[in-house]
Amino acid sequence: MVRCEVLVIGGGPAGSTVARYLSRAGVKVILVEKEKLPRFKLCAGCISARAELLLPPGWKRQVLSEIKGGLLGFRGRSYVEVSSERPVAYIVERSSFDSYLVEEAVSSGAELWEGVEFIGFEEGKAITSAGKVKADIVVGADGFYTKVGRFLGYKKRKFFRSLEFWEKEDIGERVVIDIGLVRRGYAWIFPKGDEVSVGVASSGKEDLLRVLKDYASKTPYLREKSVGRPFGWMIPFAEKEEDLQLGKGRVALVGDAANMVDPLLGEGIYYSLLGGKLLAEAILESQGDFLEAYRRKVREEILPQLSYAGKMARIAYRFQRLAFGMGEKAVSRFLDLLTGKKTYKDLYRRGLFELLLSPLHFENFLHIIIDKILERR
Ligand SMILES: Cc1cc2nc3c(=O)[nH]c(=O)nc-3n(C[C@H](O)[C@H](O)[C@H](O)COP(=O)(O)OP(=O)(O)OC[C@H]3O[C@@H](n4cnc5c(N)ncnc54)[C@H](O)[C@@H]3O)c2cc1C
Repeated sequence: MVRCEVLVIGGGPAGSTVARYLSRAGVKVILVEKEKLPRFKLCAGCISARAELLLPPGWKRQVLSEIKGGLLGFRGRSYVEVSSERPVAYIVERSSFDSYLVEEAVSSGAELWEGVEFIGFEEGKAITSAGKVKADIVVGADGFYTKVGRFLGYKKRKFFRSLEFWEKEDIGERVVIDIGLVRRGYAWIFPKGDEVSVGVASSGKEDLLRVLKDYASKTPYLREKSVGRPFGWMIPFAEKEEDLQLGKGRVALVGDAANMVDPLLGEGIYYSLLGGKLLAEAILESQGDFLEAYRRKVREEILPQLSYAGKMARIAYRFQRLAFGMGEKAVSRFLDLLTGKKTYKDLYRRGLFELLLSPLHFENFLHIIIDKILERR
């Protein structure tokens, strides 16, 4: 049997970040990843510029495309475009980006168990395919289908289903996002080197393949009007404190395992990195209950962002034409969100204010109020 201070399960951005911060501080960490690296991860790979502060200094070598603007479309037809002089986001290929982060954790001192699977707990020990580990703290950073989380009795309740494929195309240094196609979610075209990632995510029950085919045939930003080979995966999200599943006892969850994803855009990489840093800090700083310290940090730094994103998602996806109609100014505020100049709270307040002032939107606004009242009853 092997002993360590912290056993981290999962070598995605969340797990490698916890491992990197802790090892750098001298903690004995074992990082267990079930796949051989580099491993495939379905993801559009868009990282907001505000995540830069959470990444190791050399990370820009992983960047395939810089994003300096975006188009918001309605059903693949009308579009509004916004742009920025400086990059607001970066696109990476997840297999090499995640491997790079794991290498950084290892060079900080973490011991990597690659191709080793976490199986369960038995008599206070973690069972892996390479043997038993006795750890003071176990971190579940094992993604959407978290085995660690399931051992704690958690179930996923809120999530987007998604489909993604890639093809050769050039859309410049910008992303295309289309609403109005699914009940809650959107379709996207993101650049990825000399290719684009095309996808759709929804928390509704639509036939996503049909939606994606229809979208590919309509959008003016794809020359091939057909869908390549699509892959599917789930994206969990949290919009309230009770949606976050942060752990129990000496076991903490982080990243997708804890549902740390924005409920409006489905952005998860930034929150995995931030959650990983907060968890490492809680472990390092707390004299007693590290989980309580972690909860407090998440409540202060992550929850406000997710809950305001959730409020916006409930309105914007209920009234998608109205959201699209708010135009360029509203869309350009998202660029400030991505760079960290504005928060979701700023965007939410500003959006409501504009709705109130606009007679054009007054009728829709009344619907929102009525809806709110009905939701509370
Ligand atoms: C189609 C799609 C597009 C997306 N696009 C974006 C985007 O553009 N931008 C963005 O910010 N987010 C995006 N996301 C969300 C993002 O991919 C996730 O939020 C992010 O990967 C979460 O990181 P993580 O480290 O928590 O989990 P993961 O990246 O899922 O890593 C979990 C790791 O744990 C390992 N593991 C699992 N089980 C075990 C086990 N039992 N034992 C050992 N290891 C195990 C897995 O192999 C994996 O390496 C997208 C998601 C999807 C599905």
